[in-house]
Amino acid sequence: GDFTLEHVREHVWELPQEGDMRVPARVLANEALLEQISDDKTLEQLRNTTHLPGIQEYAICMPDGHQGYGFPVGGVAALDAEDGCISPGAVGYDINCGVRMVKTNLTYDDIQGNEEELLNSLFANVPTGLGGGAVVDNAPVEEILDRGVEWAVEAGYGVEADLAHCEDEGVRPEADPQTVSQKAKDRGRNQAGSLGSGNHFLEVQRVTDIYRDDVAAEFGLREDQIVVLIHCGSRGLGHQVCTDYLRDIEQTHEGLLNQLPSKELAAAPAGSQLAEDYYGAMCAAINFAWTNRQLITHQTRQVFERVFDRSWEEMGMELLYDVSHNIAKKEVHTVDGEDNELFVHRKGATRAFPAGRPELPPAYREVGQPVIIPGSMGAGSYVLRGGEHSLEETFGSTAHGAGRLMSRTQAKNEYWGEDVMDDLREDNQIYVKAESGATVAEEAPGVYKDVDDVVSVSDALGIGDTVARTYPVCNIKG
Ligand code: 5GP
Ligand code: MN
Ligand code: MN
Repeated sequence: GDFTLEHVREHVWELPQEGDMRVPARVLANEALLEQISDDKTLEQLRNTTHLPGIQEYAICMPDGHQGYGFPVGGVAALDAEDGCISPGAVGYDINCGVRMVKTNLTYDDIQGNEEELLNSLFANVPTGLGGGAVVDNAPVEEILDRGVEWAVEAGYGVEADLAHCEDEGVRPEADPQTVSQKAKDRGRNQAGSLGSGNHFLEVQRVTDIYRDDVAAEFGLREDQIVVLIHCGSRGLGHQVCTDYLRDIEQTHEGLLNQLPSKELAAAPAGSQLAEDYYGAMCAAINFAWTNRQLITHQTRQVFERVFDRSWEEMGMELLYDVSHNIAKKEVHTVDGEDNELFVHRKGATRAFPAGRPELPPAYREVGQPVIIPGSMGAGSYVLRGGEHSLEETFGSTAHGAGRLMSRTQAKNEYWGEDVMDDLREDNQIYVKAESGATVAEEAPGVYKDVDDVVSVSDALGIGDTVARTYPVCNIKG
């Protein structure tokens, strides 16, 4: 496209405001990352976003950004919660897709030799794949939508401390199960505690590098430590919520839609019935996703107990943190010296609040929140800490992954799942088990950008500071 980006300063590029743009747009990237989004729709989508009513400061693309549905994956848009709007496409179909990290006090030495057993046992006990299979059959979906992880803890799938180590303590009180369609509930009922397919995974990792000793100590991370990363979202339930409200909003708010350059950005004006209903339904789907990751955590703890013949408490399997990367939330941010309530949309972007923000749990209020950035099944992943500059640069956000380099179709032409798995095992001692070989091809390490580049931009800008790097040991996926 015809996009002339101005170089504002190192790692900051700007699409100046022109035509019907309400604000400029910004891309946070180094030259290599910028080059990788030069010939897809990322910049066009980012520019389209600046047309949304009530958008503040800039539409922002994180260093891992790439094209998505209407709005880039890796996009952040803060829209006024009083005179602006809310846009399901800027949240994404997989509402509250996110990652959590479970710590252990095991070291790599402790598990070498047990990889195969661990892999098989995780695969057998954590439901994966497109279809059914869940930790809880016929789950009390209304209660989960209403109460999130609080329900899970009460039902014996976790402990109180899990709540304190989850974004928003694992429950969004604004959830309104009545605004979630029966169809969405039916889709969710038998998926509570399941990874799903494609990009979702559970990965046992070892910590290979520590960059900030003091922060790592606060987070309880050490070199050689074994940790578990769980990546999944709200399954069919969240997808259905997004589908339902996109349709309703398109039909009801045609006037607003006609002002926007893309139908995929369909938005409900703040204060409208549909804005309220979508927010309530989205919050309910958020609760479902957190519960989903909690149930998978429960299974993971049990698997470790059987494989290592010790209780999970003895193995220190506590939650580091659970972060969402597809979400919109009412948050207060300072714009032009004034505090405003905004719908901060983060799609493929992670909240990265620095020390001091009242939303942070006591454990992280003095140090900044943990941010978890997966790389790929053949590369490093990172733990960051919410950076001091994130509030002024990105409404308190940073990247969510390495970001895709090629489409799934392209990936299947380039890679063969079995070969990818064999290479990982032989060359890197990484054990992968998947429901389908095609998934492994679609998620091969080569389909992702360089996660080291992504986090180095985040670190240099001070939006998310690198704390630790991990490397895969075993990985299961759908
Ligand atoms: P999403 O699919 O949620 O947009 O992206 C999450 C991120 O997870 C991707 O950008 C990619 O960097 C990372 N990722 C995908 N598959 C794997 C995997 O198997 N292991 C790890 N560690 N990261 C992965
Ligand atoms: Mn997802
Ligand atoms: Mn995700």
